[in-house]
Amino acid sequence: MTNDSVNKEEFFGHPKALFILFFTEMWERFSFYGMKALLIFYLTRYHLFTDVSGNLLIGSYAALVYAVPVIGGFIADRYLGFRKAIVFGGIMLVLGHLGMAYEGNAATQSVTGEITRDDVALQVFYFSLSLIIVGVGFLKANISSLVGELYQVGDKRRDSGFTLFYMGINLGSFLATLICVWLGEKYGWSYGFGAAGVGMFFGLLTFISGRKLLKGKGESKVPELLEKKSFGIKNEWLIYALSVLSALVFWQMVQRHEVVSYSLMIAGAASFIYIVYYSITQLDKKAREQLMALTILIIFTVIFWALFEQAYTSLNLFADRILDRTIFDHTVSAGQFLSFNALFIILLAPVFAWLWVKLGKYNPNTAVKFSMALLLVGLGFGSLVLGISLSGLGKVAMIWLILTYFLHTCGELCLSPVGLSAVTKLSPAKIVGFMMGVWFLATASSEFIASILANIASVDTSNGTAPDLNLAKQSYLVLFEYLFYTGIGFGIVLFALSPIIKKLMHGVDKELNN
Ligand code: GLN
Repeated sequence: MTNDSVNKEEFFGHPKALFILFFTEMWERFSFYGMKALLIFYLTRYHLFTDVSGNLLIGSYAALVYAVPVIGGFIADRYLGFRKAIVFGGIMLVLGHLGMAYEGNAATQSVTGEITRDDVALQVFYFSLSLIIVGVGFLKANISSLVGELYQVGDKRRDSGFTLFYMGINLGSFLATLICVWLGEKYGWSYGFGAAGVGMFFGLLTFISGRKLLKGKGESKVPELLEKKSFGIKNEWLIYALSVLSALVFWQMVQRHEVVSYSLMIAGAASFIYIVYYSITQLDKKAREQLMALTILIIFTVIFWALFEQAYTSLNLFADRILDRTIFDHTVSAGQFLSFNALFIILLAPVFAWLWVKLGKYNPNTAVKFSMALLLVGLGFGSLVLGISLSGLGKVAMIWLILTYFLHTCGELCLSPVGLSAVTKLSPAKIVGFMMGVWFLATASSEFIASILANIASVDTSNGTAPDLNLAKQSYLVLFEYLFYTGIGFGIVLFALSPIIKKLMHGVDKELNN
């Protein structure tokens, strides 16, 4: 397909299909973040999980949800193509989110402290999580890769296309953290989780109805193979059937933290070996070095997201327990603070995109941007350290957490949209889907590490509320100080390495930032 046929139908200077992907991903992230914002409270308040077990469960779920896209990306590259993979993922997601709407009975605690939980409801919950894991696995990386496929190599609009797409992600997250949290807290968990499912249903409809605009992009490269039969079943259906069955495996895994940790290590090592093997056997020197640059950058994202993803565990609980959340007579829900991240992205993404272009030849290369991201995420925790230190014996003023989200968002904008775009340019065309999966696999490891880090500040609670404000404050202070130094330290290391990485990128980087 030539570039001309894409350019004919544009909207805001971009292929119209970008907006189909924008709205599909907006709804997908609406469901994803709406559910995630409620999760820690649902576990600690409704099912009376301790902080530690709540954090670890979220860690296992979030790790799996971001790890499976590496398989989803591989299957799309090799067999299904991006479009079919996205439709299948969307269906799994609708089912998973609707399953979340079943809440069962609340856990009870006897006078002796014994907790009785609704085990059936919990199993339904774990199974719903596993459907979401499979759904995100097929959708998340592939929709990003499909954005990249809308632009030819060298098309200058690619980066701004990704910036717009990233705004769609955050519009979904912004609406979700306001609407689903509000519904969940005011009317009950099932309303919040149910709204997430309805959102995903709209996403699926959007994608299916916009098929024509894709103009054949994202189709399978081997349609005849999909039509062929194995074991009497069409290969395409066999892939779907096996994927549905894999939900049974994730259902068990999500309940076993250690198994997730070993699987992550294996997946990370296997992906790394495959990248090295592919580089040696299939690529010339330039392509190999570009892939190497991308791999180094991806490794550093693990640290960024491990710090950033405190948002849904330790920061969410911190907001709930330690933050003064009253404005005049109104109390803001803890989970709603998460919407600041998305709001800042929506406001600042165009500013950053403009800034990169405006800086012209002074525009920092991708490795420098990533190091800035690490410094900024570290500084974000510095804001909370300061806030806690200035709070005396009382609660912490909300401005400090808002400043944290501001700094974290600036960091995210130096790393995430730039990184997605980099993946589609630095990886060889045949393995874009897989490398996009590896990008998210790095996030998966971060999510897992994030939950372990969050436990540094676990506060002993029996009913979801912190017993002693000042003790709890100290425990968060230790965590945030540690994260502050980690961000700054790794930021400096990456900055020192950036000239080497720049060389390995062979100028693709220049194109990236224009
Ligand atoms: N917030 C972004 C999204 O949901 C990035 C997530 C990630 O890569 N860790 O797509």
